Amino acid sequence: MPLRFNFCPHCNEKIIFKIEMEDIDSKLYPAPVYIICKSCKKLSTFYVDSLLRVSYKELVKKPGGIKTIETQ
Ligand SMILES: [Zn+2]
Repeated sequence: MPLRFNFCPHCNEKIIFKIEMEDIDSKLYPAPVYIICKSCKKLSTFYVDSLLRVSYKELVKKPGGIKTIETQ
């Protein structure tokens, strides 16, 4: 279960989350997944590549995601 470290695009706090292949629709990469920040409780969309590495992120909920992940 890959653990990912990143930063919330809303509050810039460090976030940690677990992501697995079934959390994304792998028909198209980068694939979106929704992340809820533990600090500010806001949702953002993170796009990951085929190795589940974060490519980029958006402040809003973009279409195409299948899972919302809470950060630790
Ligand atoms: Zn945040």
